[in-house]
Order: sequence, then C-alpha cells, then structure tokens
Amino acid sequence: MLHVLRRIVLEVSAADNLTSALGIIVRRVRQELDIDVCSVYLSEPGGQRLLLMASEGLNPDSVGHVEMSAGEGLVGLVAERAEPVNLENAPDHPRFKYFPETGEERYHAFLGVPIVHNRRLLGVLVVQQRERRRFDDEHVAFLITLAAQLSGAISHAELIGEVGRQRESTPQENLQITGIPGASGVAVGQGVVAYALADLDSVPDRDAENVNEEEQTFREAVRAVQDELKEIKHRMQDVLPSEELLLFDAYVMMLGSDSLVNGTVDRIRAGSWAPSALRDTVRESARAFEDMDDPYLSERATDVRDIARRILMRLQSHVRRPEDFPERTILLGEDVTATQLAEVPTDRLAGVVSSKGTGSSHVAILARAMGIPAVMGVSDLPVGRLEGRQIVVDGYRGSLYIQPSPELLEQFKHLQEEEQELAEGLRTLAQEPAITLDGHEVPVYANSGLLADIAPSIQSGADGIGLYRTEVPFMIRERFPGEDEQTEIYREALMSFNPRPVTLRTLDVGGDKSLPYFPVVEDNPFLGWRGIRITLDHPEIFLTQLRAMLRASQGLCNLHILFPMISSLSELKGAMQLLQRARDELLDEHYVIPVPRVGVMVEVPSAVYLAEAMARRVDFLSVGTNDLIQYLLAVDRNNARVADLYNALHPAVLHALSHAARGAHQAGKPISVCGEMAADPASVILLLGMEIDSLSVNVASLSRVKWVIRSFSRERARELLNQCMTMEEPAAIRALLNNALVQAGLGGLVRAGKT
Ligand code: PEP
Ligand code: MG
Repeated sequence: MLHVLRRIVLEVSAADNLTSALGIIVRRVRQELDIDVCSVYLSEPGGQRLLLMASEGLNPDSVGHVEMSAGEGLVGLVAERAEPVNLENAPDHPRFKYFPETGEERYHAFLGVPIVHNRRLLGVLVVQQRERRRFDDEHVAFLITLAAQLSGAISHAELIGEVGRQRESTPQENLQITGIPGASGVAVGQGVVAYALADLDSVPDRDAENVNEEEQTFREAVRAVQDELKEIKHRMQDVLPSEELLLFDAYVMMLGSDSLVNGTVDRIRAGSWAPSALRDTVRESARAFEDMDDPYLSERATDVRDIARRILMRLQSHVRRPEDFPERTILLGEDVTATQLAEVPTDRLAGVVSSKGTGSSHVAILARAMGIPAVMGVSDLPVGRLEGRQIVVDGYRGSLYIQPSPELLEQFKHLQEEEQELAEGLRTLAQEPAITLDGHEVPVYANSGLLADIAPSIQSGADGIGLYRTEVPFMIRERFPGEDEQTEIYREALMSFNPRPVTLRTLDVGGDKSLPYFPVVEDNPFLGWRGIRITLDHPEIFLTQLRAMLRASQGLCNLHILFPMISSLSELKGAMQLLQRARDELLDEHYVIPVPRVGVMVEVPSAVYLAEAMARRVDFLSVGTNDLIQYLLAVDRNNARVADLYNALHPAVLHALSHAARGAHQAGKPISVCGEMAADPASVILLLGMEIDSLSVNVASLSRVKWVIRSFSRERARELLNQCMTMEEPAAIRALLNNALVQAGLGGLVRAGKT
C-alpha cells in the first residue's frame, strides 16, 4: 500500500494543473481499490459550496455542474464534520440527497473523507460501490492517508494551474499568494528565479531567446555528457566487472534515445528554453518508468534523472551576468540563500520571496538589513512559473501578487510614496539622540556582520554596533580566517565607531549557519553543537578569534566581546578563562591591550533564569530574542509551517524578558536587546517599560526605533507594559500597543507591525 500511496502522490505532485491532478487521483484510486466510483468535490473560495470537480464512475457530464452547499447531502456532511462518513447503504441515511445528473442511484456503499490543508477544508474525496457493504478499515485508512498527503499537492496544483493560465490567453490579474512577512516594505518588479544548480525540479519556465541556438546548445550538452560517460566507463574498466560496465552503455543509449532528445528538442522548438524543456521531458519519461510494475524497470527512473542532471549542469555553464538581472529584480526561490541574494547587484534587487524560511531566518534578517522587502514561507509558491512575471511584494502583509492590474499597481505606488515620505521625515531624526520624553537615554545601536554595513550604520545615526555577527566573514571564505586577517576586519569595525562601542560576538555557527569548510550534520541542529559549544570544544579556533579581537582593540577603548548560546555558568566560566588566557598571551608578547567589556547573550531559556548570576560575572547582558523565542515556544525560527506560533508578544516571552531585565539590574549591570524584536515598534514600547538599557537593530529600522523612543515616556511605557502583562492573547497585546502608537502620532509605523 505504501508503494501505491507514494506513486500516486508523486504523480499528483508532478501534475501541471488542478484538472490533471484531480484526474490522476480519481483514476488511480478507482484502479487501486478496485471500486466502482471515485470522485473529488472541491470547496469554492469562501467555503460555502462544494463542486464536483472530477469523477471516474459518475456520469462525466455532471463533472463541473453538480454543486451543493456545504452541509447539503452526504458530501456536505463529510465537509461539515470534517471526518469520514462510511455507509453501507447511502440512500438510507437521512442526509442522503439524490443528484439525478450523476447517475449515482446505482451505487449503495459510500465512503467520503475530508481533504484538509492548513486547517482549511479543500474538499471531499468520495468512493462508491454498487453492492451494499461497509468499506473496511483498510480502505478508510488508505483514503485518509491519501487525502492528508494530497492536500498540499492539490492546493499547489490549483495555484500552478492559475499561474499557468495567466501565461495563456486570458490572464487573470492580481493572483495573490500569501506567506509570512520577512522584511517590511513594498516592491514592484520582475521575477527572477534563484535555483540550486543541477536541481531539475527547481528549474524555472523561461522562453528561448533563440530557438536554433537553444537546440544546438542542448545537443552539444548531450554529446558532452555522452563523451563524459564513455570516459568514465573507460576509467572503470579495470575496477568494475564487465556486466556492471554495461550500465554505462545503457546510459549512453538513453542519452541518444528519441524520447529524451526528441522530446526535449520538440519542446525547445515550441519556444521553451532548454533546461525547462529537459525538465518536462524527464518528468514524463521518469513517470513512465515509475509506473512499471517491474521493480528493476521502475528504478530506471532514477537513472533518467541522474543523466538529466548531468545535461543540466552542462547547460548551466552559461551563468547569469550582473547586467542580465532586470533593473527591479524580485528574487524568488524554494529556499533563497544568502549567497543567491548576494549574486544580484544591490541596485537591481527590489524584493525577495522564498518558499522556505520565516521572518527570523537569516536571509530575512539580511533583507531587512538591506532595506529590501521580503516575503518568506510561501509554501505554495509555484516557483517554476514565475520567471519574468511582474510581481508585487508586500513585505508588511507577507503577500505577493502576480500579474497586478493597473489599479493594484497604482495602490502600491501610492504606498511606496507614503513610505518614502515617512523615511524622509525620519531621516532628520537619525542624528538626534534616542531619549524618552522623560529624559532617559536608550542608545540605539546597529546590527552588522559585513564591513560593507559599517558606513551605512554610521550614516544612519547608530550609537555604535550592538551586535557584530562575526560568523559572516567566516561564511564568505573557504577556510577559517587567520589571526591577522581577522584582526584587520575587527579593527576596521572598531576604528570606524571609536569611541562608540562595537560589540563583536564570538563565532556562532551551527543551527542554520554552517561553514562550507566545517560541516556539522545533525538531526536537530538548533539543539546541537552550536555557538559557544563549538568554540569551547575547539579552543584553537576560539583563541585565534579572541586574540584577533583583542589585538584589534590596541589603542582603542570601545571593544565589547559577546558570547553566544551560553546555557550554563560553566560555559561562561570556560569562555572567560580562554579570554583571560588570550589576553595574558598577548601581554606576554608585549602587546598593550585594554581590558574589553564582556557580555553574555541571553538566548537560551536557562540563561533567563541565570541572568542575575551571569550578570554578576560580566559587564552586560544582551538578549537574542530570535533564538530565545524559538527555544521558549519550541518553534523552529525557520519553519514556515509553525511560523504563526512564533510570536514576540507571547506572554511567556514578555515574562522571560522582564525576568532577565530584573536579573541584570539586581546585579547592577545593563541589559540590551539585539534580536529582531528590538526593531518592532510595538515591542519597543514594552522594552522601554522593562527599562532595557539599549537596543540594537538592523540599520533600516534605526530611525523608526528612535522615533518610538522619543515619543514615549518611560512612565507611559511602564503603564502599557503592566497592562500587557495581565493579558493572555498576543493579538490583543498587539492591538493595544498599535493603538498606543497611533495615539502618540506614530500611526505610520503601525502598518509595519506584525500580529
Ligand atoms: C538572536 O538570536 O536574537 C540573535 C541576535 O542572534 P542570531 O539571529 O544571529 O542567532
Ligand atoms: Mg541567536
């Protein structure tokens, strides 16, 4: 059964549109279960009505015509209850309703299961049989499993179909797809798909610029792969037995086969560029192999894909040049990476959209730092269909619109103008000190990680660097940077801001930040070997970094060192000892090194409860809310499926922050917040109320945060905090704070707020 299930799901996932996806489902289910009828009813937008969309067994003319309100008939009963209904003789049931167009009077046994996606009822899957019988448990279990697995594919096929239709004769305008806000702002531009090289499934649709050239390039790539395989066979001659070597001959033959080459060439001649022509041809032949019952032959699907990947790599030797990116590029992808972001010239990058990830993923953080609107976690994104399309990115709401109408474009243009006005108004604020209405200064520092960020941070009026993520320079190299190399990087950062503070955080790799030359593979990377745990286990790496930081601070007095991911006092003691050792070594080597200020990140729940004890041993605490929220609420910061559970205004988060702030102050030490929460205007009010001493935010948010600080007194912020601390629902807390922002004249910031 599992094998059958998998095959049906694979076929449906590869379908080009909803009609063919549903056709596959009803055909395959009827065949596999050996029953008389299989039908799919889908609920229409708004969920008020159900429409018969596909059937094998019912009168074909009724497809697309029979409809019922949710709650009407047995199908409606399944929808209403959102659970299976299994009946030996359907007409006996009081809710039975006869639809004469279907010809279903012949059928007695009825089994309907709901199709549910993200808590939303998509439709109902029904099987029927002429004889009176109760479907057995195995049938019910099969259909429930199938419906659960298919729901994502159906919803995806629906979108792909709609996007596909747009390309054709009657473009539907304003197709909206929703994800999660990644970076605020709105952008209009042209889709460019970022895809992993040699990943056939992520190849986007694109038209061939010159059909003849495209065909020639494809044929050359095929020839090159044939030569490559012959060469491999030759090399393996002495290593493999002769029957195994035949495999390579089979590969070479496949490469010359009509189905692969002619199929692709036909698609190219019809106007497609070679990679997507190859993708579609390969899907077709792989599916044909997979459908074969002989396990040996069905395994050949893997070979076809492997060969196609080799051809694809050849085709991809023509990499996009900077000038090939449209002037307003909307970068889209399954899982957009920081490197893909960096490949687009910054003056051409207008927006980012990723199927995977959330607002707390590092790509989103990078987009915010660059002031580029981003939408994350768009699980239904039909990536392959979006190349070259006009797209609107609404980073506030976490939505995108494909093929926007002139009216929608006008609305967004208006919004962009409003944003610009706001930004200009705030620019004058940038150089003003961040002082509350009752005279408390709360410095606003910048988060950084690249030297390229430093100049914009200074211009933006930052009071210093509150978080320098040193892993970024480590990530863009091919090996660990040496002590001198690191010293140079850190010194430039320290000098640019001197005497204002610069907080260098020691290496925080692991989790979702990996170094290509130091792979850490774990089942649970966020709970694994990460941050200080790695550097304590590798004192040679840690000491090199600490020495570089200290050497960089010679003659300066603004170095702050911050330890990430501390979860126990023993880790802190270990880190402090190594820091002391690095300094002693340098003093022995006759360097004159000032004493740095040392801090601990509070980003693991245990650190919240140890805040006072930790603060007694160091000079300051800094709360990393990005991680703290994920660990407190058990919500992976990169997992779009649970992103709506990730909430900075969750009462547990507010209690944890207040507790940490009290701990630091009882020890007489300052505490700052450097996670993304510090850039959220509504949250800033609460942080002021908690008497957080400083904030560190992405450069793009700096002046907004200053505006909030300058618009509230600590007294008023404390009142609002006390009120929020008695509330249970994050949405109600958000509403209260938004209202306070509007009342204080900061309504312009409210749209940016997350719920
Ligand atoms: C945090 O966790 O809040 C933080 C600032 O660190 P990072 O986002 O780099 O994990
Ligand atoms: Mg962190």
